[in-house]
Amino acid sequence: MGARKPGRNQIHGDSNFHMQCREGCGACCVAPSITSPIPGMPQGKPAGVACIHLTAERRCGIFHSPMRPRVCADFMADGQVCGNDAEEALQILAWWEQATA
Ligand code: SF4
Repeated sequence: MGARKPGRNQIHGDSNFHMQCREGCGACCVAPSITSPIPGMPQGKPAGVACIHLTAERRCGIFHSPMRPRVCADFMADGQVCGNDAEEALQILAWWEQATA
């Protein structure tokens, strides 16, 4: 059985460890593809491309908007995915993207 793409709210593996979203990261707004429409990106976004709503401070510019994709709202930071820093998070998320393509 191949690797199953994790849901953005279920990327927890076997771990019960939960973490707070890392300030200034934004890796989950860059590395994965998003197939849901995003305001200004009606086809979603490809893997490795920063969402147009990711601010210079690496925050979501439409965080409180009802137009923010559900998949984004459902994503929970997790140590197994987010790693020790933003660079590691990008690498792990890119690996998931390729493994589940
Ligand atoms: S809409 Fe916000 S949370 Fe979703 S990918 Fe874009 S910046 Fe990130």
